[in-house]
Amino acid sequence: MYLVLLGPPGAGKGTQAKRLAERLNLPHISTGDILRQNVKAGTPLGKEAKGIMDKGLLVPDDLVASMLDQRFNNPDIKKGFILDGYPRTLSQAKTLDEILGRKKFAVDIVVYLNTSDEVIIKRLTGRLVCSKCGANFHKVNMPPKVSGLCDNCNGELYQRSDDNEITVRKRLEVYKNEVASLIKYYEQQKKLHSLNADLDAQEVLEQIISLCAKV
Ligand code: AMP
Repeated sequence: MYLVLLGPPGAGKGTQAKRLAERLNLPHISTGDILRQNVKAGTPLGKEAKGIMDKGLLVPDDLVASMLDQRFNNPDIKKGFILDGYPRTLSQAKTLDEILGRKKFAVDIVVYLNTSDEVIIKRLTGRLVCSKCGANFHKVNMPPKVSGLCDNCNGELYQRSDDNEITVRKRLEVYKNEVASLIKYYEQQKKLHSLNADLDAQEVLEQIISLCAKV
């Protein structure tokens, strides 16, 4: 099952992708996570990407495509994947088809998580992420039991440098400029399913799982 999660930043793609990966026993591949790992490790890719990410802009296509191509060489994708954060543009969608096609795979289903700007801004500006296990918390909606520490692994929580209101609004603008053509592309392929992501996360998860069962 090759599943792509689409939706604005803060729609809950990462949260859903992690849960789906567990339930369906598939790898979760997030281009944002791989980029952040590169930034943290100080690789040449990370150094190039850091400033762009902090402005809420898109990292150049060729860099992200080759990073993904490399990730797809891992044999764990033979059974499928949950892809989160890619594609973000029509050109990336075509690149994805190309890279997968070369490896004799294809996208099976695209789930679009639809949500409103105000919900997104509240979610992202309050988001806290565990530096060890990547679990997400929220300052108001889901605070950790001990301030600053992850409930699951005791790792330190941090706020992503691009989760401030100015950058979030920029990320939303970038997203909106691109999403219409992306949606049309997958609609034409009859692969697109839209869900209301303002609902409870568990409910959204169950809806995605039942869509997957029909593929
Ligand atoms: P995310 O974790 O998906 O919100 O991504 C965080 C940031 O990483 C984005 O704002 C972009 O700067 C960069 N990024 C992630 N995925 C992509 C992509 N597919 N194309 C270009 N830039 C990306």
